[in-house]
Amino acid sequence: MGVKAKELHVAFFPFMAHGHMIPALDIARLFAARDNVKVTIITTPLNIGTFIKANENSIKIGASIVNIQVFKFPTKEVGLPDGCETPDFSLGTAMIHNFFKASEMLNEQLELFLENVRPNCLVADMFYPWATECAAKFNIPRLVFHGFCYFSLCAQEIVRLHEPYKNLSSDEETFVLPCLPHEIQLTRLQISEDLRKGEETFFKRIINRVKESEVDSYGVIVNSFYELEPDYADLYRKELGRRAWNIGPVSLSNRSTEDKAYRGKQTSIDKYECLKWLSSKKPDSVIYICFGSTASSIDTQLHEIAMALEASGKQFIWVVRNSADNGKNEEWLPTEFEQRTKGKGLIIRGWAPQMLILEHEAIGAFVTHCGWNSTLEGISAGVPMVTWPIFAEQFYNEKLVTDILKIGVPVGVKKWSRTPLIEDIMKREAVEMALREIMEGKEVEERRNRAKRFKAMAHKAVERGGSSYTDISALITELRGYHLRQQN
Ligand code: UDP
Repeated sequence: MGVKAKELHVAFFPFMAHGHMIPALDIARLFAARDNVKVTIITTPLNIGTFIKANENSIKIGASIVNIQVFKFPTKEVGLPDGCETPDFSLGTAMIHNFFKASEMLNEQLELFLENVRPNCLVADMFYPWATECAAKFNIPRLVFHGFCYFSLCAQEIVRLHEPYKNLSSDEETFVLPCLPHEIQLTRLQISEDLRKGEETFFKRIINRVKESEVDSYGVIVNSFYELEPDYADLYRKELGRRAWNIGPVSLSNRSTEDKAYRGKQTSIDKYECLKWLSSKKPDSVIYICFGSTASSIDTQLHEIAMALEASGKQFIWVVRNSADNGKNEEWLPTEFEQRTKGKGLIIRGWAPQMLILEHEAIGAFVTHCGWNSTLEGISAGVPMVTWPIFAEQFYNEKLVTDILKIGVPVGVKKWSRTPLIEDIMKREAVEMALREIMEGKEVEERRNRAKRFKAMAHKAVERGGSSYTDISALITELRGYHLRQQN
C-alpha cells in the first residue's frame, strides 16, 4: 500500500470581480476534488455570496469543505462609495484607481494570514502582483491566475515588448503582431487606450508589474486546454519563458444543474423556466446574447441590438444587465418589442444561468463580448460565436475565435473602450448581418462542426488522463515536493 501524501493546503485569492471570482471558485473546486488537498478562498464580506449560495453555509466538494477567509475591504479609507467591493466602471476612472489602491491595502491582512495559517501555496490574481513578495516572506510559492487564454497572454506580451502599434500613419492602419505563428492583424484603436496614449498611465504601470510578477512567481495557471491553442501554450512556455500549467476549461468542474445555474450570483430567471423555454425550441435555433458581468451598454446600443434581433427574425435569449434596476424606465426598448417577439425571444434582466443556457442544444450561436470565461464556456458547449469585444484583452480573444479557431464571426467593433461612446456603437445593420451570417451563412455547417470538435476536446482535456487533468496532477505533485524540500 502506498504512503498517503501529506496534506497540501492551497489558498486562492481572487480579484473581486465576477470574471475573476467565478473561475477561481471553479479552480478551487478542481483542487479540492483531489486527494488530500485542502483549499481556502480569500474574499471580502460583500463577496462571500459569490462563493456560497444563499441557502447554504459552506462549499462542499465531495468529502471536503472549502474554507472561506474574509478580509475587510478598505472602502472608506480610499473614498469608495459604501458597499463598493467589486470594481464598477460606471463610477469613472478615478474610482477604479481607488479600487486598485484599496486592493493593494489588503497586503497587510494577507501577510498576517500567510504567517498564521502557512498554506503551502498561494494562488493570487494577476491584479495582485505584490502578493508574490508577501508570499516570499514566508517561503510560500505564489502562482499567478490571470483568467486569460495562452493566445492573449502571448499577444499582450508581444505587443508590450515590440510596440508594433508605434510609427503607424493612423489609428485605423492595421499592423501585424510580430513573432506569432499566425498572421494576426489589429489596428491601434483596438489595443488598450493606455498603450495608445503613449505616456505612463495607472493601468500601464499595473500591467508592467503584472508581467514582472509572472516571471518572479512560481508560475502561472491558465484556464485553457492544450489542444485548443498548442502553438501558444508552447510559445508562452518556450519562447516567453513562463512556467505554466493549463487546467481548463475550469467551468466544466460544475457538474450539477444547481452548480451550473448558480455561478457568481442568484439568477434573475428561474433556471427550470429558462430550460423549459429552450426545450420548446429546435436544436441550434436560438441566439444567446450576453456581455458578461462588467460591461454595460448604453441605451442607444441596446436599441440597435433590439432592432437587429427583430429584423433578423431569429429566436433569442438576451441578457440585459444594466436594465435590472430600472426595469420600468427602459427607453432603449422599442415600443411593444416584447409583445411582437413573444414566444420568439426572452429578455433576462440581470443575471442569467449562462452555463446552463449555452449547454442547451437549442442554442445555435452566442453573441459575446469575448470575456475569456464566456468565450471558453462557448467553446466548451460547442457553440459558434458572434464576437463583440469591448475592452481588456477581449480584442485578442476575438482574434483567437475568428482567425485561429475559425468558429466565430466578428460583428466589426473598431475601438477598444472601457465605456463605449455613442459614436462608437454598432449599427443595427451590422449586427443583423452578423446574426444572419452565424445562423444561416454559407459556412454555418463547417463552423458548427469545428465548434463541436473543440467541445469534444475540451471535455476530454478535463477527464482523468486528459491534458488539463494531468497538468493539475503534475502541479500538485510538484507543490508537494516543494513543500517537502522546505521542511527538510
Ligand atoms: N455570467 C453568468 N450570467 C450572466 C453574466 C455572466 O453566469 O448573466 C458569468 C459567465 O458565465 C462567466 C462570467 O460571468 O463565467 C463572466 O466572465 P467573462 O470573463 O466572460 O467576462 P467579464 O464579466 O469578466 O467581463
